[in-house]
Amino acid sequence: MILSIAGSDNSGGAGIQADIKTAALMHQYCATVVTAVTAQNAHGLRMAQYVGDEMLFAQLETILEEMRPDAVKVGMLPCESAIRIVGDFIERNGLKNVVVDPVVKATAGGGLAEGYDIPLAYIRYLLPYTTLLTPNLDEATLLLGVAPCVMNDAKSLSSETEKFMARTGLKNILIKGGHSQGNQCVDNLYCGDGSRYAFTAERVDSRHLHGTGCVLSSAIASLLADGRDLLKAISDAKHLLTEAIKKGAEHPVKQDYGPLYLFAD
Ligand code: PLP
Repeated sequence: MILSIAGSDNSGGAGIQADIKTAALMHQYCATVVTAVTAQNAHGLRMAQYVGDEMLFAQLETILEEMRPDAVKVGMLPCESAIRIVGDFIERNGLKNVVVDPVVKATAGGGLAEGYDIPLAYIRYLLPYTTLLTPNLDEATLLLGVAPCVMNDAKSLSSETEKFMARTGLKNILIKGGHSQGNQCVDNLYCGDGSRYAFTAERVDSRHLHGTGCVLSSAIASLLADGRDLLKAISDAKHLLTEAIKKGAEHPVKQDYGPLYLFAD
């Protein structure tokens, strides 16, 4: 089973809703801890509300009283105390296979994590206990503390990433290239032992991309829970994501910026 610690997306495409569907598709039971409730649609984020320290803590504790997740997916962490509580919980309980998607903005616009020093909080409270961090290019720029142009220069990106991993104790980072230009979408994996891997897929032209980061991270967590090694989990999850993007373009749920389509026809 996996545990998803993430925000609720009432439009159903991202956040905890995407995680439950993805895990079910991969035959994994998914317990949930809701960090925040959002009200949003294709026009943007209308409201986001943190559930509060006490509620977050109570959800985490009640899960662990009865179950032990084989993997954890962490998504939206709206404030510093949420990161602190989640990081402390993971460390205290020795949870393994922790996949962290450092969500900062709703893709339709609007901040999902605001009012605190995001890089500092991740570095201090969460990265030491993270198996895999899955930032997109903007999130990687923010967390690594580098100029945006570094993302376009493979050599500097590699050296900045190595320095970041050595400084923070992060084990593995998958920098997703979905928001870059070009016919191919390349995600680069940097591992703590110095090895590097690239995962490539053809770019699919679609406006229905809501939830891509959530689906990828919860699919990786589900596959790790199933005993897959990290490389196989990433490559199988990326394959699933590419298929869900293709099907999302063929079966649009709504006109504007819509969700992926996760199900077989
Ligand atoms: N988590 C929540 C609650 C969200 O609302 C969103 C986007 O709107 C995300 C995560 C990130 O979505 P995506 O997977 O499209 O990056």
